[in-house]
Amino acid sequence: MFSDSKVSLRSPKIVLGVIGLSAVLAGSLYYGSTTTASVLILNGQDIGYVATSDEGEQLIEHILASRGESLGSVAKTHDKIEFRDLRISKGTLQESYVTEGKLDNLIHTYFKGYQFSIEDNPIAVLSSEEEFNTILQSYQEIYTKPSANNQISSVEFRESIASQPIEVQPEEFSSPENVLELLTKGHETRKEYIAQANDSWWLIARKNNMLTKEVLDGNPGTDEDTTIKVGDKINLVKVTPYLTVISKGIYTGEETIPFDVISKTDYSLPSGSSLVRQEGSDGSKIVTFSYIQENGKNIEKEILEEKITQEPKTQIIAKGPTYVSSSKVALSRGSGKVSGLSWPLQGGLNSYYGYRWGSFHTGLDIDGNTGDPFVAAISGTVSAAGWSGGYGNMILIDHGNGVATRYAHASELYVSKGQKVSNGETIGLVGSTGRSTGAHLHFEVITNGDTTNPLSYLP
Ligand SMILES: [Zn+2]
Repeated sequence: MFSDSKVSLRSPKIVLGVIGLSAVLAGSLYYGSTTTASVLILNGQDIGYVATSDEGEQLIEHILASRGESLGSVAKTHDKIEFRDLRISKGTLQESYVTEGKLDNLIHTYFKGYQFSIEDNPIAVLSSEEEFNTILQSYQEIYTKPSANNQISSVEFRESIASQPIEVQPEEFSSPENVLELLTKGHETRKEYIAQANDSWWLIARKNNMLTKEVLDGNPGTDEDTTIKVGDKINLVKVTPYLTVISKGIYTGEETIPFDVISKTDYSLPSGSSLVRQEGSDGSKIVTFSYIQENGKNIEKEILEEKITQEPKTQIIAKGPTYVSSSKVALSRGSGKVSGLSWPLQGGLNSYYGYRWGSFHTGLDIDGNTGDPFVAAISGTVSAAGWSGGYGNMILIDHGNGVATRYAHASELYVSKGQKVSNGETIGLVGSTGRSTGAHLHFEVITNGDTTNPLSYLP
Protein backbone atom coordinates (compact mmCIF):
# COMPACT_ATOMS: atom_id res chain seq x y z
CA MET A 1 0.00 0.00 0.00
CA PHE A 2 1.61 3.24 1.16
CA SER A 3 4.94 1.66 1.84
CA ASP A 4 7.52 4.07 3.08
CA SER A 5 5.01 6.79 3.83
CA LYS A 6 3.68 7.76 7.18
CA VAL A 7 0.05 7.09 6.49
CA SER A 8 -1.75 5.70 9.45
CA LEU A 9 -5.20 4.35 9.06
CA ARG A 10 -7.33 4.30 12.12
CA SER A 11 -10.94 3.48 12.44
CA PRO A 12 -12.16 4.87 15.72
CA LYS A 13 -15.15 2.96 16.94
CA ILE A 14 -18.32 4.88 17.51
CA VAL A 15 -19.22 4.64 21.11
CA LEU A 16 -22.90 4.61 21.62
CA GLY A 17 -24.24 5.95 24.86
CA VAL A 18 -26.66 4.16 27.12
CA ILE A 19 -29.37 2.71 24.99
CA GLY A 20 -32.81 2.88 26.60
CA LEU A 21 -36.08 1.75 25.10
CA SER A 22 -37.01 5.14 23.72
CA ALA A 23 -33.62 5.36 22.25
CA VAL A 24 -34.14 2.02 20.49
CA LEU A 25 -37.40 3.28 19.01
CA ALA A 26 -35.86 6.53 17.96
CA GLY A 27 -32.92 4.51 16.77
CA SER A 28 -34.94 2.47 14.30
CA LEU A 29 -36.24 5.66 12.75
CA TYR A 30 -32.73 7.07 12.71
CA TYR A 31 -31.26 3.94 11.07
CA GLY A 32 -33.74 4.10 8.28
CA SER A 33 -32.65 7.55 6.98
CA THR A 34 -28.93 7.25 7.75
CA THR A 35 -25.99 5.22 6.51
CA THR A 36 -22.52 4.18 7.65
CA ALA A 37 -19.75 6.36 6.31
CA SER A 38 -16.21 7.38 7.09
CA VAL A 39 -14.69 10.81 7.49
CA LEU A 40 -11.45 11.27 5.56
CA ILE A 41 -9.05 13.24 7.73
CA LEU A 42 -6.02 14.76 5.99
CA ASN A 43 -3.33 16.10 8.30
CA GLY A 44 -5.87 16.43 11.10
CA GLN A 45 -8.48 18.20 9.00
CA ASP A 46 -11.80 16.67 7.98
CA ILE A 47 -11.99 16.71 4.21
CA GLY A 48 -15.33 14.98 3.65
CA TYR A 49 -16.96 11.58 3.58
CA VAL A 50 -16.30 8.33 1.87
CA ALA A 51 -18.53 5.23 2.12
CA THR A 52 -15.87 3.16 3.80
CA SER A 53 -12.27 3.59 4.85
CA ASP A 54 -11.35 0.88 2.31
CA GLU A 55 -12.85 3.00 -0.42
CA GLY A 56 -10.90 6.01 0.85
CA GLU A 57 -7.69 4.06 0.82
CA GLN A 58 -8.31 2.94 -2.74
CA LEU A 59 -8.92 6.52 -3.74
CA ILE A 60 -5.54 7.57 -2.35
CA GLU A 61 -3.76 4.58 -3.88
CA HIS A 62 -5.20 5.52 -7.23
CA ILE A 63 -3.95 9.09 -6.97
CA LEU A 64 -0.45 7.95 -5.96
CA ALA A 65 -0.36 5.43 -8.80
CA SER A 66 -1.51 7.86 -11.48
CA ARG A 67 0.99 10.52 -10.38
CA GLY A 68 3.79 8.00 -10.82
CA GLU A 69 2.50 6.42 -14.01
CA SER A 70 4.76 8.28 -16.43
CA LEU A 71 7.81 7.38 -14.31
CA GLY A 72 6.86 3.74 -13.97
CA SER A 73 6.63 4.06 -10.22
CA VAL A 74 4.21 5.05 -7.47
CA ALA A 75 4.23 8.42 -5.71
CA LYS A 76 4.69 8.60 -1.97
CA THR A 77 3.23 10.99 0.58
CA HIS A 78 4.08 12.26 4.03
CA ASP A 79 0.51 13.47 4.50
CA LYS A 80 -1.26 11.92 7.47
CA ILE A 81 -4.47 10.21 6.35
CA GLU A 82 -6.98 8.90 8.88
CA PHE A 83 -10.57 7.72 8.83
CA ARG A 84 -13.30 7.99 11.43
CA ASP A 85 -16.34 5.81 10.92
CA LEU A 86 -19.79 7.23 11.73
CA ARG A 87 -23.39 7.30 10.66
CA ILE A 88 -24.72 10.29 8.76
CA SER A 89 -27.78 11.04 6.73
CA LYS A 90 -27.68 9.72 3.20
CA GLY A 91 -28.08 13.26 1.91
CA THR A 92 -25.07 14.54 3.83
CA LEU A 93 -22.95 11.70 2.48
CA GLN A 94 -23.90 12.63 -1.07
CA GLU A 95 -23.33 16.34 -0.56
CA SER A 96 -19.94 16.04 1.11
CA TYR A 97 -18.54 13.05 -0.76
CA VAL A 98 -14.76 13.20 -1.23
CA THR A 99 -14.10 12.97 -4.97
CA GLU A 100 -10.76 11.95 -6.46
CA GLY A 101 -10.47 15.39 -8.00
CA LYS A 102 -10.87 17.10 -4.61
CA LEU A 103 -8.36 14.83 -2.91
CA ASP A 104 -5.92 15.16 -5.84
CA ASN A 105 -5.80 18.92 -5.22
CA LEU A 106 -5.06 18.50 -1.52
CA ILE A 107 -2.57 15.67 -1.27
CA HIS A 108 1.17 16.31 -1.38
CA THR A 109 3.37 13.64 -2.93
CA TYR A 110 7.02 13.03 -3.69
CA PHE A 111 9.22 10.43 -5.36
CA LYS A 112 12.29 8.77 -4.04
CA GLY A 113 15.34 9.72 -6.12
CA TYR A 114 19.09 9.57 -5.92
CA GLN A 115 21.15 12.72 -6.05
CA PHE A 116 24.26 11.96 -8.06
CA SER A 117 27.16 14.29 -7.22
CA ILE A 118 30.79 14.63 -8.26
CA GLU A 119 33.17 16.32 -5.84
CA ASP A 120 30.11 17.42 -3.81
CA ASN A 121 28.60 19.20 -6.83
CA PRO A 122 25.09 17.92 -7.64
CA ILE A 123 24.98 16.66 -11.23
CA ALA A 124 21.60 14.97 -11.63
CA VAL A 125 18.78 13.11 -9.93
CA LEU A 126 18.28 9.51 -10.97
CA SER A 127 15.52 7.10 -10.08
CA SER A 128 17.71 4.27 -8.82
CA GLU A 129 21.22 3.43 -7.77
CA GLU A 130 21.38 0.89 -10.59
CA GLU A 131 20.94 3.71 -13.10
CA PHE A 132 23.75 5.58 -11.42
CA ASN A 133 26.07 2.55 -11.62
CA THR A 134 25.15 1.87 -15.24
CA ILE A 135 26.07 5.44 -16.21
CA LEU A 136 29.45 5.19 -14.47
CA GLN A 137 30.08 1.87 -16.17
CA SER A 138 29.20 3.28 -19.62
CA TYR A 139 31.42 6.30 -19.03
CA GLN A 140 34.36 4.05 -18.12
CA GLU A 141 33.80 1.91 -21.20
CA ILE A 142 34.22 4.94 -23.46
CA TYR A 143 37.83 5.29 -22.31
CA THR A 144 38.84 1.72 -21.54
CA LYS A 145 38.70 -0.88 -24.26
CA PRO A 146 40.16 -4.14 -23.08
CA SER A 147 41.33 -6.55 -25.77
CA ALA A 148 43.99 -9.18 -26.38
CA ASN A 149 46.36 -6.26 -27.13
CA ASN A 150 45.22 -4.11 -24.23
CA GLN A 151 45.45 -5.69 -20.79
CA ILE A 152 43.87 -3.25 -18.35
CA SER A 153 45.00 -3.74 -14.78
CA SER A 154 43.03 -1.03 -12.99
CA VAL A 155 40.32 1.53 -13.63
CA GLU A 156 39.24 4.23 -11.21
CA PHE A 157 37.80 7.71 -11.09
CA ARG A 158 39.92 10.59 -9.91
CA GLU A 159 36.96 12.52 -8.52
CA SER A 160 34.88 11.53 -5.51
CA ILE A 161 31.45 10.35 -6.57
CA ALA A 162 28.38 9.98 -4.36
CA SER A 163 24.75 9.03 -4.62
CA GLN A 164 22.31 10.04 -1.90
CA PRO A 165 18.61 9.30 -1.55
CA ILE A 166 16.43 12.40 -1.77
CA GLU A 167 12.76 13.29 -2.22
CA VAL A 168 11.92 14.98 -5.49
CA GLN A 169 9.17 15.89 -7.91
CA PRO A 170 8.90 14.06 -11.27
CA GLU A 171 10.34 16.92 -13.34
CA GLU A 172 13.58 16.81 -11.33
CA PHE A 173 14.59 13.41 -12.69
CA SER A 174 17.15 13.16 -15.51
CA SER A 175 17.28 10.31 -17.96
CA PRO A 176 20.43 8.14 -17.84
CA GLU A 177 21.06 8.96 -21.52
CA ASN A 178 21.10 12.69 -20.80
CA VAL A 179 23.36 12.28 -17.80
CA LEU A 180 25.86 10.23 -19.83
CA GLU A 181 25.79 12.87 -22.56
CA LEU A 182 26.39 15.62 -20.02
CA LEU A 183 29.36 13.73 -18.58
CA THR A 184 30.95 13.10 -21.98
CA LYS A 185 30.53 16.72 -23.05
CA GLY A 186 32.11 18.13 -19.90
CA HIS A 187 31.42 21.56 -18.53
CA GLU A 188 32.48 24.95 -19.78
CA THR A 189 34.35 27.37 -17.64
CA ARG A 190 34.50 31.01 -18.76
CA LYS A 191 37.09 33.55 -17.85
CA GLU A 192 37.94 36.95 -19.22
CA TYR A 193 41.49 37.79 -20.14
CA ILE A 194 42.74 41.32 -20.76
CA ALA A 195 45.27 41.43 -23.60
CA GLN A 196 48.77 42.58 -22.64
CA ALA A 197 51.49 44.13 -24.78
CA ASN A 198 52.89 41.74 -27.41
CA ASP A 199 50.10 39.20 -26.88
CA SER A 200 49.23 36.96 -29.78
CA TRP A 201 46.53 34.27 -29.97
CA TRP A 202 49.26 31.72 -29.59
CA LEU A 203 50.80 33.45 -26.56
CA ILE A 204 47.43 33.88 -24.82
CA ALA A 205 46.79 30.16 -25.35
CA ARG A 206 50.23 29.32 -23.90
CA LYS A 207 49.72 31.56 -20.88
CA ASN A 208 46.42 29.87 -20.10
CA ASN A 209 47.41 26.31 -20.86
CA MET A 210 45.05 26.10 -23.84
CA LEU A 211 45.30 25.41 -27.55
CA THR A 212 45.19 28.37 -29.94
CA LYS A 213 42.10 26.85 -31.55
CA GLU A 214 40.33 26.66 -28.18
CA VAL A 215 41.00 30.35 -27.52
CA LEU A 216 39.76 31.32 -31.01
CA ASP A 217 36.63 29.15 -30.64
CA GLY A 218 35.67 31.05 -27.50
CA ASN A 219 35.79 34.34 -29.44
CA PRO A 220 33.43 34.04 -32.40
CA GLY A 221 34.48 35.92 -35.51
CA THR A 222 38.22 35.72 -34.79
CA ASP A 223 40.99 33.85 -36.54
CA GLU A 224 44.75 33.72 -36.12
CA ASP A 225 45.14 36.88 -38.21
CA THR A 226 42.78 38.94 -36.05
CA THR A 227 44.80 41.74 -34.46
CA ILE A 228 44.88 41.94 -30.67
CA LYS A 229 45.23 45.34 -29.00
CA VAL A 230 46.34 45.93 -25.43
CA GLY A 231 43.26 45.98 -23.20
CA ASP A 232 41.12 43.83 -25.53
CA LYS A 233 38.84 41.46 -23.63
CA ILE A 234 39.44 37.88 -24.68
CA ASN A 235 37.03 35.12 -23.62
CA LEU A 236 38.71 32.00 -22.37
CA VAL A 237 36.21 29.17 -22.70
CA LYS A 238 37.57 25.89 -21.51
CA VAL A 239 35.80 22.56 -21.57
CA THR A 240 36.69 20.37 -18.62
CA PRO A 241 35.37 16.88 -18.06
CA TYR A 242 33.33 16.27 -14.92
CA LEU A 243 34.87 12.86 -14.49
CA THR A 244 38.34 11.52 -15.15
CA VAL A 245 38.85 7.81 -15.72
CA ILE A 246 42.35 6.79 -14.68
CA SER A 247 43.29 3.47 -16.22
CA LYS A 248 46.49 1.49 -16.04
CA GLY A 249 47.50 -1.37 -18.28
CA ILE A 250 49.85 -2.88 -20.82
CA TYR A 251 49.38 -2.34 -24.53
CA THR A 252 50.99 -4.14 -27.46
CA GLY A 253 50.65 -2.71 -30.93
CA GLU A 254 52.34 -1.85 -34.19
CA GLU A 255 54.03 1.52 -34.55
CA THR A 256 55.53 3.27 -37.55
CA ILE A 257 59.24 4.08 -37.73
CA PRO A 258 59.50 7.19 -39.91
CA PHE A 259 62.28 7.14 -42.51
CA ASP A 260 65.27 9.52 -42.49
CA VAL A 261 66.05 11.89 -45.32
CA ILE A 262 69.61 12.75 -46.25
CA SER A 263 70.76 15.00 -49.05
CA LYS A 264 74.05 14.81 -50.91
CA THR A 265 75.61 17.28 -53.29
CA ASP A 266 75.75 15.89 -56.81
CA TYR A 267 77.92 17.94 -59.21
CA SER A 268 76.35 16.29 -62.24
CA LEU A 269 73.09 18.07 -61.45
CA PRO A 270 72.37 21.70 -62.31
CA SER A 271 72.62 24.18 -59.44
CA GLY A 272 69.40 24.48 -57.45
CA SER A 273 67.86 21.23 -58.73
CA SER A 274 67.31 18.06 -56.76
CA LEU A 275 66.52 14.47 -57.51
CA VAL A 276 65.34 11.58 -55.33
CA ARG A 277 68.02 8.92 -55.69
CA GLN A 278 66.37 6.49 -53.31
CA GLU A 279 62.74 6.56 -52.21
CA GLY A 280 62.38 6.35 -48.45
CA SER A 281 59.89 4.05 -46.81
CA ASP A 282 58.63 3.81 -43.24
CA GLY A 283 59.51 0.86 -41.11
CA SER A 284 57.38 -0.70 -38.42
CA LYS A 285 57.80 -2.21 -35.01
CA ILE A 286 55.78 -4.10 -32.45
CA VAL A 287 55.90 -2.16 -29.20
CA THR A 288 54.76 -3.29 -25.78
CA PHE A 289 54.37 -0.53 -23.24
CA SER A 290 52.80 0.02 -19.86
CA TYR A 291 50.65 3.12 -19.55
CA ILE A 292 48.64 5.36 -17.30
CA GLN A 293 45.76 7.02 -19.10
CA GLU A 294 43.41 9.86 -18.24
CA ASN A 295 40.18 9.63 -20.19
CA GLY A 296 41.92 7.53 -22.84
CA LYS A 297 45.01 9.74 -23.23
CA ASN A 298 48.43 8.42 -22.26
CA ILE A 299 49.95 10.55 -19.54
CA GLU A 300 52.68 8.06 -18.76
CA LYS A 301 54.16 5.49 -21.08
CA GLU A 302 57.03 3.11 -20.48
CA ILE A 303 58.36 0.91 -23.27
CA LEU A 304 58.75 -2.67 -22.08
CA GLU A 305 59.69 -4.32 -25.37
CA GLU A 306 60.31 -3.30 -28.97
CA LYS A 307 60.64 -5.59 -31.96
CA ILE A 308 61.40 -4.14 -35.39
CA THR A 309 59.35 -5.94 -38.01
CA GLN A 310 60.36 -3.73 -40.93
CA GLU A 311 63.46 -1.54 -41.10
CA PRO A 312 62.84 1.96 -42.50
CA LYS A 313 64.60 2.83 -45.77
CA THR A 314 66.42 6.17 -45.85
CA GLN A 315 65.39 8.60 -48.54
CA ILE A 316 68.38 9.92 -50.44
CA ILE A 317 68.07 13.20 -52.27
CA ALA A 318 70.76 14.38 -54.66
CA LYS A 319 71.09 18.17 -54.87
CA GLY A 320 72.78 20.21 -57.49
CA PRO A 321 75.69 22.28 -56.09
CA THR A 322 75.39 25.81 -54.81
CA TYR A 323 77.68 28.00 -56.88
CA VAL A 324 79.39 30.92 -55.30
CA SER A 325 80.95 33.80 -57.18
CA SER A 326 83.71 34.99 -54.83
CA SER A 327 83.77 38.47 -56.31
CA LYS A 328 80.13 39.03 -55.36
CA VAL A 329 80.52 38.12 -51.68
CA ALA A 330 80.40 41.19 -49.42
CA LEU A 331 82.88 41.01 -46.56
CA SER A 332 83.37 43.32 -43.60
CA ARG A 333 85.89 46.16 -43.65
CA GLY A 334 87.90 47.30 -40.66
CA SER A 335 91.23 47.36 -38.90
CA GLY A 336 92.19 43.91 -40.20
CA LYS A 337 93.04 42.94 -36.68
CA VAL A 338 91.83 39.71 -35.15
CA SER A 339 93.52 37.49 -32.63
CA GLY A 340 93.06 33.96 -31.42
CA LEU A 341 93.05 32.10 -34.75
CA SER A 342 93.76 28.37 -34.51
CA TRP A 343 94.73 25.88 -37.18
CA PRO A 344 91.71 24.63 -39.13
CA LEU A 345 93.40 21.26 -39.74
CA GLN A 346 96.42 19.54 -38.23
CA GLY A 347 98.77 18.53 -41.01
CA GLY A 348 101.98 19.24 -42.83
CA LEU A 349 102.21 22.21 -45.17
CA ASN A 350 102.32 21.29 -48.84
CA SER A 351 102.51 24.85 -50.07
CA TYR A 352 103.07 28.31 -48.52
CA TYR A 353 101.56 31.71 -49.22
CA GLY A 354 103.31 33.70 -51.97
CA TYR A 355 104.85 33.17 -55.45
CA ARG A 356 105.16 29.48 -56.25
CA TRP A 357 106.10 28.00 -59.62
CA GLY A 358 105.50 31.25 -61.39
CA SER A 359 102.12 32.09 -59.93
CA PHE A 360 100.85 33.62 -56.76
CA HIS A 361 99.51 31.16 -54.18
CA THR A 362 96.89 32.90 -52.11
CA GLY A 363 96.84 30.62 -49.06
CA LEU A 364 98.34 27.72 -47.18
CA ASP A 365 97.89 24.13 -48.36
CA ILE A 366 97.49 21.90 -45.33
CA ASP A 367 97.93 18.18 -45.97
CA GLY A 368 95.01 15.89 -45.13
CA ASN A 369 93.04 12.85 -46.23
CA THR A 370 89.68 12.97 -47.92
CA GLY A 371 87.04 12.90 -45.20
CA ASP A 372 89.18 14.46 -42.46
CA PRO A 373 87.09 17.10 -40.63
CA PHE A 374 88.37 20.67 -40.61
CA VAL A 375 87.22 23.47 -38.30
CA ALA A 376 86.59 27.20 -38.29
CA ALA A 377 89.84 28.99 -37.36
CA ILE A 378 87.85 31.43 -35.24
CA SER A 379 84.20 32.28 -34.70
CA GLY A 380 82.31 34.20 -37.36
CA THR A 381 79.45 34.18 -39.84
CA VAL A 382 79.48 32.14 -43.02
CA SER A 383 79.48 34.58 -45.95
CA ALA A 384 79.45 31.90 -48.65
CA ALA A 385 79.44 28.11 -48.86
CA GLY A 386 79.31 26.23 -52.15
CA TRP A 387 81.10 25.55 -55.39
CA SER A 388 83.38 28.26 -56.59
CA GLY A 389 85.44 27.48 -59.71
CA GLY A 390 89.03 26.39 -58.97
CA TYR A 391 88.33 26.42 -55.21
CA GLY A 392 85.88 23.55 -55.64
CA ASN A 393 83.72 23.35 -52.54
CA MET A 394 84.66 26.25 -50.36
CA ILE A 395 83.58 28.16 -47.29
CA LEU A 396 84.14 31.84 -46.65
CA ILE A 397 83.74 33.06 -43.06
CA ASP A 398 83.63 36.72 -42.04
CA HIS A 399 85.07 37.39 -38.58
CA GLY A 400 84.40 41.13 -38.55
CA ASN A 401 86.95 43.98 -38.46
CA GLY A 402 87.70 43.32 -42.16
CA VAL A 403 89.03 39.79 -41.53
CA ALA A 404 87.74 36.68 -43.34
CA THR A 405 88.99 33.11 -43.81
CA ARG A 406 88.51 30.72 -46.73
CA TYR A 407 88.57 26.90 -46.74
CA ALA A 408 88.75 25.26 -50.19
CA HIS A 409 88.71 21.89 -52.06
CA ALA A 410 86.36 20.29 -49.48
CA SER A 411 84.58 17.00 -50.16
CA GLU A 412 81.62 17.96 -47.92
CA LEU A 413 80.38 21.28 -46.55
CA TYR A 414 78.57 21.26 -43.21
CA VAL A 415 77.59 24.92 -43.08
CA SER A 416 75.59 27.30 -45.21
CA LYS A 417 75.46 31.01 -45.88
CA GLY A 418 74.36 33.14 -42.92
CA GLN A 419 75.17 30.50 -40.32
CA LYS A 420 77.12 31.50 -37.21
CA VAL A 421 80.06 29.24 -36.40
CA SER A 422 82.19 29.09 -33.31
CA ASN A 423 85.92 28.72 -32.91
CA GLY A 424 86.91 25.08 -33.53
CA GLU A 425 83.53 24.00 -34.92
CA THR A 426 83.73 21.38 -37.69
CA ILE A 427 82.57 23.04 -40.89
CA GLY A 428 83.45 20.50 -43.60
CA LEU A 429 85.51 17.54 -44.72
CA VAL A 430 88.81 17.60 -46.56
CA GLY A 431 88.66 16.71 -50.26
CA SER A 432 90.19 17.42 -53.62
CA THR A 433 87.46 19.29 -55.44
CA GLY A 434 88.13 22.11 -57.92
CA ARG A 435 91.67 22.70 -59.18
CA SER A 436 93.53 20.34 -56.90
CA THR A 437 96.00 17.51 -57.38
CA GLY A 438 95.30 15.67 -54.14
CA ALA A 439 93.38 15.82 -50.86
CA HIS A 440 94.32 18.92 -48.85
CA LEU A 441 92.82 22.03 -47.31
CA HIS A 442 93.59 25.33 -48.97
CA PHE A 443 93.33 27.96 -46.23
CA GLU A 444 93.29 31.73 -46.80
CA VAL A 445 93.16 34.76 -44.56
CA ILE A 446 91.63 37.81 -46.25
CA THR A 447 91.87 41.31 -44.83
CA ASN A 448 89.76 44.04 -46.40
CA GLY A 449 89.41 42.04 -49.61
CA ASP A 450 93.07 41.01 -50.10
CA THR A 451 94.69 37.76 -49.14
CA THR A 452 97.43 37.92 -46.57
CA ASN A 453 99.90 35.39 -45.16
CA PRO A 454 97.95 33.14 -42.80
CA LEU A 455 101.13 32.30 -40.90
CA SER A 456 101.19 35.81 -39.48
CA TYR A 457 97.82 35.10 -37.84
CA LEU A 458 98.28 31.48 -36.81
CA PRO A 459 100.05 30.47 -33.62
ZN1 LIG B 1 96.27 26.06 -52.31
